[in-house]
Amino acid sequence: MLNGIHLAEKLIRNHELSMDEYVKLLEQYQNQDIVKLLADEAVRLRKQYYGDKVYTRGLIEFTNYCKNNCYYCGIRAGNRNAVRYRLTEEEILSCCEEGYRLGFHTFVLQGGEDPYYTDDRMVEIIRSIKTRFPDCALTLSIGEKSEESYRRFREAGADRYLLRHETANDEHYRKLHPESMSLAARKQCLYTLKKLGYQTGAGFMVGSPGQTYHHIAEDLIFLKDLKPQMVGIGPFIPHHDTIFAKESAGSVEMTLFLLSIIRIILPQVLLPATTALGTMDPQGREKGLQAGANVVMPNLSPVKNRKQYELYDNKICIGEEAAQCWGCLSARVEKAGYHLVSDRGDAV
Ligand code: SAM
Repeated sequence: MLNGIHLAEKLIRNHELSMDEYVKLLEQYQNQDIVKLLADEAVRLRKQYYGDKVYTRGLIEFTNYCKNNCYYCGIRAGNRNAVRYRLTEEEILSCCEEGYRLGFHTFVLQGGEDPYYTDDRMVEIIRSIKTRFPDCALTLSIGEKSEESYRRFREAGADRYLLRHETANDEHYRKLHPESMSLAARKQCLYTLKKLGYQTGAGFMVGSPGQTYHHIAEDLIFLKDLKPQMVGIGPFIPHHDTIFAKESAGSVEMTLFLLSIIRIILPQVLLPATTALGTMDPQGREKGLQAGANVVMPNLSPVKNRKQYELYDNKICIGEEAAQCWGCLSARVEKAGYHLVSDRGDAV
């Protein structure tokens, strides 16, 4: 087996490693020579494809009702303490309006799996957004649906879909989710979304309870196979009303290391520096950009509901108006040496 530096060089050359090689490389996430080697290559690649542009996605958290019970998530159905809310179509459109005024050209509608939003209601919302903002891309992040539903949303105008696979290991998936959910179903959704022509995003939490280097290696191999246009990763952060309340949060260093590795495995991928990363480290998003990320996702949700979309504890940016979020992120991006742009930012 090659040593850490040689494995990093092999990854840079081949854009992939074997399972055992990934495990060996992941063990080196605190070795600063290897961290730097991979981050330099990740930045070189993101500059080759995207220059110094950082794309923005305006996140609209439109419902925190959810029929699922993912054990790690603060808005899971079983959390009786969650204060539930839904945005009306008018409220969603006014979030888009405000975002558009600020320069956003991508809106992400994210929510729990809320049966109130039937396919007909979603189609209506998608059509209204795409009619009012025809030059904007629309991303959905509303969980697992049938192929027929995904097709209807796509035909109504949705361009992209984010559905993190959460973990590519069956046993680990079981530890994080109840019996009613399955990794096979989740993966099938991702392949269906790709088939239907969505720019598709997969991803996972770093440091989720029970996660091993071997599991992360499986995630990386799965990502290479799926070839999603987007990958969302961020540290797991415990939520006080879940069975994982006392677990440790995921590591910022490991998340940054993985951002670099994912950029090298999938050089053209759209890779956000996530809010969870910014929650764990005040400079987390800047560090994410310097490790190979090229997307940020400021919050456009109404301030009155921000606190209620509480997936994990201590989430940042819950008290700021959209304009403040844009200003703050723009300054952070510039500080990291990049430029926040308002293009749609499609996958190249
Ligand atoms: N319901 C949709 C779905 O399942 O894809 C979208 C909403 S879901 C809340 C969005 C993402 O939040 C999940 O994919 C998960 O990775 C992340 N998340 C949930 N709880 C978290 C936690 N405690 N720490 C970090 N990320 C979390």
